[in-house]
Amino acid sequence: MILRDAQVLDGTGERFEDATLQFDPESGRVDAVGDADPRGDEPAYDLGGKTVVPGLVDAHVHFSLSGEASVDEVASMSDAELALVEARNARTTLEAGVTGVRAMGARDLDVLVRDRIERGDIAGPRTVANCRSITITGGHGHHLGREVDGPTECRKAVREQVKRGAQFIKFMATGGVTTPGTDPDAPAFTDAEMDALVDEAHRRGVHVATHAHGARGARAAIRAGVDTVEHGTFLDEATVDLLVAEDVTLVPTLSAPYNIVANADHATDESLRKTDDVYERHIESFRRAVEAGVDVAGGTDAGTPFNYHGANATEVSFMAEYAMAPMDAIVAMTGRSAEVIGLADAGTLEPGSHADFLVLDEDPLDDVAALGDPRTVVKGGEVVAGDEFGPGGVGERGE
Ligand SMILES: [Zn+2]
Repeated sequence: MILRDAQVLDGTGERFEDATLQFDPESGRVDAVGDADPRGDEPAYDLGGKTVVPGLVDAHVHFSLSGEASVDEVASMSDAELALVEARNARTTLEAGVTGVRAMGARDLDVLVRDRIERGDIAGPRTVANCRSITITGGHGHHLGREVDGPTECRKAVREQVKRGAQFIKFMATGGVTTPGTDPDAPAFTDAEMDALVDEAHRRGVHVATHAHGARGARAAIRAGVDTVEHGTFLDEATVDLLVAEDVTLVPTLSAPYNIVANADHATDESLRKTDDVYERHIESFRRAVEAGVDVAGGTDAGTPFNYHGANATEVSFMAEYAMAPMDAIVAMTGRSAEVIGLADAGTLEPGSHADFLVLDEDPLDDVAALGDPRTVVKGGEVVAGDEFGPGGVGERGE
């Protein structure tokens, strides 16, 4: 199939004007970008200057959570109930234009959801999945995580996750906003524990993400060799320099504190007290990181309080509003995020990549908010949400 007369942003930072996207609905892959040679009677549609961008790739979502004010009701769900909730959240995410995610784990369900999406049993984005986040006893996320103490248990927990199909390891380097009794600013693990976690994960060929708010915890995790730092709420200059020096990617999740502050009336007292204190500093940290040249991948933390699945594109708006050029913010949540989370052939529109893309009526380089309102969502060469191509839908049938 050929889409003509489009502005194509390819997810690497390149922009093609008055361009063509050619893809094969059978293989689900992109054939050509820019110019194309039609094959025989291949259908062609004229997009009249609309923009085509890769589907968003969200580097940090929680399918197990649905924006509840508190995690209590989720923690009490059976696995069966939670699996149904996850399937619904996966579909909502895809239909909003997110064709790839890294699912940050809950019990051992995300790997099942990933596999069922791959088999075509349920609708959802391409998913890089984890099992349980690893945390100290009583630490952040312990209600759905794997509690460990000591380097030996750290190694064992990593091996367990990999055995169950985890494609990465997430551990909680500091306390968190949503877990009562934990301190976001305080390091959780000892250095020896973090060394064991990262070493074991890398020996098993999986990457490592760490949840870190406070700078001391973040620095310790970076020194231990993690691949991505999630949130990075209180990054001072020393920590930012270390991120650059060690080539570690920051996933800022700016949507998470924003939504708690914006819903102050409904947030729990504890999460509000923790967030109010941190929101401004979080934005400052993000600016400092971007200015220093830290590599950034877009991730929303969707599922956390009032941070709803399907609103993922808002993260691009925050990144653009606070520190990044629109094109850079778009790349951070398409090509760059796909690469960082290890989602092969996704996040870019290049020959051979998955035909995962959005058709936008408005130009996202004028206002990245256009990403939140796609006219059509295509995954693997198939329209999965919005208008079909052709009469009554998007694009004029051409020659
Ligand atoms: Zn998270």
